[in-house]
Amino acid sequence: AKAAGRNTYCFFDPSMQEGALVRMRLESDLRQALARQLLLVYYQPVVDRKGRMSGVEALVRWPRPPGGMVSPAEFIPVAERTGLIVTLGRQVLCMACRQLAVWAGDPRRAHLTISVNVSAREFRHPQFVSQMLSVVEQEGANPRLLKLEITESLLLHDVQDTIAKMAALRSHGLALSLDDFGTGYSSLSYLKKLPFDQLKIDQSFVRGVLVDPHDAAVACTIIQLARSFGLTVVAEGVETEGQREYLMANGCELFQGYLFGRPVPVDQLPES
Ligand code: C2E
Ligand code: CA
Ligand code: CA
Ligand code: CA
Repeated sequence: AKAAGRNTYCFFDPSMQEGALVRMRLESDLRQALARQLLLVYYQPVVDRKGRMSGVEALVRWPRPPGGMVSPAEFIPVAERTGLIVTLGRQVLCMACRQLAVWAGDPRRAHLTISVNVSAREFRHPQFVSQMLSVVEQEGANPRLLKLEITESLLLHDVQDTIAKMAALRSHGLALSLDDFGTGYSSLSYLKKLPFDQLKIDQSFVRGVLVDPHDAAVACTIIQLARSFGLTVVAEGVETEGQREYLMANGCELFQGYLFGRPVPVDQLPES
């Protein structure tokens, strides 16, 4: 506080205090929502080069009366900071696995994969792998249809531990996708060491492919990189036909974005 200078103690700044109260309220409401299992999962289509749905991404939603949905961008960081992400992640995983089990009995849906986001903090939990596998089994989901999306922030921690966990998950059939690729700090040598199945081109690059040569270059490089490593590649945040055409012409295999569908409750997913 001293460094901030005279008369500028955070303590007495009413707007700061309000911010802290809002955050505390958000945390306690989130805790309660988790205890009551009020969070929902929406699903967004992932489509192949022929435009057929090959899977979906599970995205958590928090309906918080009276205000409507709270954005995950707002509460995921709170969940991560407070450790609530472990409970949140388990609930989302349960819902996704339950959905896979339901779809297994529906010939039109039985091939669909579900991608679940996993925070670095969840992944670092010592029991992450065993808890993950026990939920999959308990819900009767086919692990081969489950993909875990993790980000590069994971790589800032114990790399040997990360590799061991990834290998264990893959040996049980789960696929691993590197989310938001290109936005973090990871080096290519990590990518070579880590057993990923899929790269996701971050939407910040997809947005610019037709207008910014740098974004286009990054997107194309990621596609080439994925191919040379034998990984599938997904472009996220595809909003226009032009973006889809450009990415497709450059070898992208899977696409996700408002062009194909927004995240929706499961019963509102398109037929195919
Ligand atoms: P993400 O994993 O990168 O997910 C993609 C985000 O982009 C989603 O935002 C999705 O709704 C949005 N999106 C999809 N297509 C488009 C598009 O064409 N244009 C634009 N502008 N946006 C698009 P959402 O659902 O608000 O989620 C935000 C972030 O919150 C996610 O980013 C992910 O990091 C995190 N998140 C969401 N659900 C979970 C969860 O269950 N667990 C964890 N750990 N994180 C989650
Ligand atoms: Ca994701
Ligand atoms: Ca992403
Ligand atoms: Ca993102």
